[in-house]
Amino acid sequence: MLALAVHNLVKTYPNGMQALRGVDLEVSAGDFFALLGPNGAGKTTLIGIITSLVTKTSGEVQVFGHSIDTDLAQAKSSIGVVPQEININYWETVMNIVTTQAGFYGMGAREARLRAEECLRQLQLWDRRADIGRNLSGGMKRRLMIARALMHRPPLLILDEPTAGVDIEIRRSMWEFLREINAAGTTIILTTHYLEEAEMLCRNVAIINHGRIIEQGRMGDVLHELQAETFVLNLREAVAVMPVLPGYAATRIGDHEIEVEVTRGQDLNDMFAALSAAGLHVTSMRNKANRLEELFIHLTGQESQAAGEVRP
Ligand code: ADP
Repeated sequence: MLALAVHNLVKTYPNGMQALRGVDLEVSAGDFFALLGPNGAGKTTLIGIITSLVTKTSGEVQVFGHSIDTDLAQAKSSIGVVPQEININYWETVMNIVTTQAGFYGMGAREARLRAEECLRQLQLWDRRADIGRNLSGGMKRRLMIARALMHRPPLLILDEPTAGVDIEIRRSMWEFLREINAAGTTIILTTHYLEEAEMLCRNVAIINHGRIIEQGRMGDVLHELQAETFVLNLREAVAVMPVLPGYAATRIGDHEIEVEVTRGQDLNDMFAALSAAGLHVTSMRNKANRLEELFIHLTGQESQAAGEVRP
């Protein structure tokens, strides 16, 4: 059973911008699926069409077999959406925000109250049910948007960059919760800039760039495409000239800073051993580019474009 089937989807905005250029995408029921892509790739447009906020130019979309052309109400009620921007009413209470949403889906007042308790408890917001939206912290607002999206028990939950700008603790608890509801049967699609987030959560992935899906498959297989990672290492010793590190491409970029490229199959341990042999001690290290960016460079061969589009 497919939760989502998208076929040859095209979107040209009135200004002539071709945001989607023939997207094909299938997501199985029960999957935890990542839609990855740099800024401007078309992710929000694609989600907008699936959730009927944006009209498509051509192509087909089915949600659990319901076409958005012929069976829109069913398609819509199969989806819960958590948008990128916080869009709750700041003057309404938490309880009202979620029960009003249930009303849009035809739920009676009593059922809505019961369901609200379930959703708010699940997202640790039950104690805050009488607070107005404005008084919630950033993390609580995001959790509230998830609770609101789940009120009508959609089998498919779509989250557009759920953790953008969210601090690590909240991010972790959101991941935990998403894993739980996925394990309980909800299909989840999330868009993200962060490969690490997708890697941590998702079984399958599609990568979109310039309105086209450029890679789709199991997370592990796609990550396998990541041929090399470049690390920036800070050294205790000053290096005037870059010593040779056998097997590694290394460049000096400052007195105490070098870059080392580690290709798939190479060990970090061996790199450290080579550095030790050269009398160098590493005090800290970081990835030069985010790994999604490196994957893009590999998949598209467009370094400047991909690097320019991926947010740091
Ligand atoms: P993403 O979510 O991956 O960042 P978007 O779907 O927001 O990408 O945007 C895809 C492309 O469509 C971008 O070039 C963007 O500038 C353009 N775009 C988005 N919305 C509109 C709009 N309403 N009118 C014209 N162009 C748009």
